[in-house]
Amino acid sequence: MIKAGGEVDAFCVKCDLTLAHTVHAVVSGKPVKVECNTCHAVHRYRAPAGAAGAAARTTPKKGREPREKRVVTSFDDLLAARKGAPIPYSPRHAFAEGDVVEHPTFGRGFVSGVRSDKVEVTFRSDVKTLVHARS
Ligand SMILES: [Zn+2]
Repeated sequence: MIKAGGEVDAFCVKCDLTLAHTVHAVVSGKPVKVECNTCHAVHRYRAPAGAAGAAARTTPKKGREPREKRVVTSFDDLLAARKGAPIPYSPRHAFAEGDVVEHPTFGRGFVSGVRSDKVEVTFRSDVKTLVHARS
């Protein structure tokens, strides 16, 4: 029976060894806070290395989980946010960012970037760089 003030073998992260520790706090019969008898560091109880359940007790390393999937706004939402009637695509038309474009091949999209003679249009399936403002 483990009780506060008693001794328990625990893994000391400072000493990097399994050493005798003095129990400082016990929850449900398990040591939660211990003091290393060697370096006197007070830390959370860690099961002695190699002990049964040691792996389960180790807290999972942070930053190793796969990144949460980003919430991607759907194409339809993005398109719906655009104002104005769709402009039929023509290389002669000078498009502005946010313009809704109706392309004969790619369908409906919106201008997501403008360079001097090129326009980047986001369509449902792809982002296309198209010429524009051709005189
Ligand atoms: Zn120690």
